[in-house]
Amino acid sequence: MAYQPIVVEATKVSDNPKNGLFEITVVLKDRNHCRVFFERDAVTGAPRPTDINRLYKEPCYVCKKDFQCDCMDSFLQTIGAQALTMVGM
Ligand SMILES: [Zn+2]
Repeated sequence: MAYQPIVVEATKVSDNPKNGLFEITVVLKDRNHCRVFFERDAVTGAPRPTDINRLYKEPCYVCKKDFQCDCMDSFLQTIGAQALTMVGM
């Protein structure tokens, strides 16, 4: 079955009004923690996820590694959208 990330906690940890960049840390239902990087569209101001890093608190749910992997990159849009909803953006 395909992995379906579910964000259970999201916290905005930085927001730079000068360049429109901000970061949200998320906790997933499988206890993985990730940091998601966003930028804002220069014209519309709409936020857009650009990058995601897994924080190494738990082994990756997908590949079971407890060090760097790129599994979460595939879920950037899904996790990014949930994170934005959860912080009310
Ligand atoms: Zn992985």
